[in-house]
Amino acid sequence: MELCNCIEPLWPADELLMKYQYISDFFIALAYFSIPLELIYFVKKSAVFPYRWVLVQFGAFIVLCGATHLINLWTFSMHTRTVAVVMTTAKILTAVVSCATALMLVHIIPDLLSVKTRELFLRNKAAELDREVGLIRTQEETGRHVRMLTHEIRSTLDRHTILKTTLVELGRTLGLEECALWMPTRTGLELQLSYTLRHPNPVEFTVPIQLPVINQVFSTSHVVKISPNAPIARLRPTGKYMPGDVVAVRVPLLHLSNFQIHDWPELSTKRYALMVLMLPSDSARQWHVHELELVEVVADQVAVALSHAAILEESMRARDLLMEQNVALDLARREAETAVRARNDFLAVMNHEMRTPMHAIIALSSLLQETDLTPEQRIMVETILKSSNLLATLINDVLDLSRLEDGSLQLEAETFNLHSLLREALTLIKPIASVKKLYVTLSLSPDLPEYAVGDEKRLMQILLNVVGNAVKFTREGGASITAHVAKPDSLRDPRALDFFPILSDNHFYLRIEVRDTGVGINPPDIAKIFMKFVHSQPLAAKNSGGSGLGLAICKRFVNLMGGQIWIDSEGLGRGSTAIFIVKLGIPSRSNEPKLAFVHKGSGNLVNPNLSGLKVVVLDENSVGRMVTKGLLSHLGCDVLAVAHGDECVRAVTHEHRVVFLDVSIPDIDTFEVAVRIGQKFLNRDKPIIIALTGNTDRATKDNCLRVGMDAVILKPISLDKMRSILSDISEHGFLAQSQ
Ligand code: ADP
Repeated sequence: MELCNCIEPLWPADELLMKYQYISDFFIALAYFSIPLELIYFVKKSAVFPYRWVLVQFGAFIVLCGATHLINLWTFSMHTRTVAVVMTTAKILTAVVSCATALMLVHIIPDLLSVKTRELFLRNKAAELDREVGLIRTQEETGRHVRMLTHEIRSTLDRHTILKTTLVELGRTLGLEECALWMPTRTGLELQLSYTLRHPNPVEFTVPIQLPVINQVFSTSHVVKISPNAPIARLRPTGKYMPGDVVAVRVPLLHLSNFQIHDWPELSTKRYALMVLMLPSDSARQWHVHELELVEVVADQVAVALSHAAILEESMRARDLLMEQNVALDLARREAETAVRARNDFLAVMNHEMRTPMHAIIALSSLLQETDLTPEQRIMVETILKSSNLLATLINDVLDLSRLEDGSLQLEAETFNLHSLLREALTLIKPIASVKKLYVTLSLSPDLPEYAVGDEKRLMQILLNVVGNAVKFTREGGASITAHVAKPDSLRDPRALDFFPILSDNHFYLRIEVRDTGVGINPPDIAKIFMKFVHSQPLAAKNSGGSGLGLAICKRFVNLMGGQIWIDSEGLGRGSTAIFIVKLGIPSRSNEPKLAFVHKGSGNLVNPNLSGLKVVVLDENSVGRMVTKGLLSHLGCDVLAVAHGDECVRAVTHEHRVVFLDVSIPDIDTFEVAVRIGQKFLNRDKPIIIALTGNTDRATKDNCLRVGMDAVILKPISLDKMRSILSDISEHGFLAQSQ
């Protein structure tokens, strides 16, 4: 009211001016107070606006200006009219401008704020982009490492190179002070410092695997920050050095078997290596996230590379081992071959060398047998003959067996009379059986072909062995032999499961059964008796004088003949039955021989008239010469014995019916003699040339026949055998077959 009193006297013109000033001051003050509020709002909203304090200062300045204008409302005083007009105009203008500014700010601030937000958004975007670029760079780095490692694997596939290169590359890429790899020791209880970046051959340094820091690293596939003082971070032997920031990561050691499990390595891998990476100590560098990611990826790559290397190492080791084994095997094979050759040579030589004295013993004892002897002397000579014959059989058996075992024995495939062969076996066995008062019978089935193709001598050998055993191991009763063609359904027998007969038109299977009433065999022993040197009844065998080779040889012969042999017995004292099946050929008509060769058993011979038969004997060995001459002279022959080939060729005339040539191993001259005799007679009235040899091999026989000899006779030769040979010649004019 006091104010009204002071200005009242100026009214109306001055009063109006005052009024305008009064109103203007009010609006100026209002505007001045609102602007800082708006600025505070702006500052609050825009978090990133710089120079906030200037704004605060500016706000304070405006508030203070406003305050002066507000105070003015109470401090009006009269001025001159001109001043009052200027003052009024200025105040009006100030009021308009300040109010306009305040209103303007209300509109502008949201806009300003939105600009700020956009800027903020852009900043975030830029930061994100930065991160992405970092990630791409990480991936590029990783890719480079992968490529590098793959390249190393391809170029060397060597574990040491892979690990060394990894450390070097990581050290370079990440600017490391040191980088090291701890590998588990063989026991798996310790980790050993195996590779470091700065020291190519680190000192032997191990730490126990159970350390908490190692467990911590092994428990995760991520990189773990570890204390620079941890035992695994102490990579420098000297104590002066202070390491920088250190991280460690596990490296799974995969094995071949791990690749069968799909979710490796978490489940399957139990063994890890450990990689330690150290930043330089002087820099304030810290590990970046992308660097740690890189280390993790590289650790995985190293694991894969190591597993590849391990596979390669393993396969190389296996290859080396295989090569060593091959070399050893080759050596063993060569040694075995040499041994077999040496054994065969030895056997061949021994065979020949033994047969020559055997020939003398048998021939001379058989000659002695024909002289006047006291009963005791006769028994002695007979025993000598029997023992010598046994010895000769043994020599044959051993040689046969060795040939069967090394596969060098080949069977003949000649046409022969099967019926005659079976009857002859009976004839040979009967005298022995009759001594023991045993019967021996033979029954041939009507469908049995008379002729067959095969190895007659070996078939006879099998038959004599089996029938011989039947007689040998029987005290009472006897043995019966049955022979028939095996029917397809009877070929398969549960006792010969590994026998698979093959039927064809030009073959048949001969089945021979020899049943005896003898001592029998304990069924569990049956399988064993086909082994070498095995007897089922030691006592019986001792008495029988057998070597235990007979059935072993028979089994091999039968197998060679595409057949099978087995023995049945219901037990000791209940007799036994030997059965064998052999495959024989059916001869075509043209194959049938005109004259069958028949073995002549001893004692059944009619003494042929051989007196005056002129023969020549060629033998370089004086004993042999004397023995053969003795045999022939005893049979009444007119013998001319010579020691040299030339002499022999010269001496042989038309009058000589037979020439005996001794064929010993190194002496090939004998073959030449045969050829020259052939040439001398031009095959007219040529004498029969017979080779006498101790060699059982086929080559000798073939060579003899090739050079024109008519027969090959194996030593030793008894008087009976010689008689049989000569009677063949005198009866038929030739020897039907070599013996
Ligand atoms: P050995 O030359 O000793 O007769 P084998 O090989 O022919 O040799 O026979 C081996 C063993 O089988 C004989 O010692 C004998 O114990 C037994 N054996 C063979 N055949 C008969 C048989 N018919 N009866 C009883 N035992 C037999």
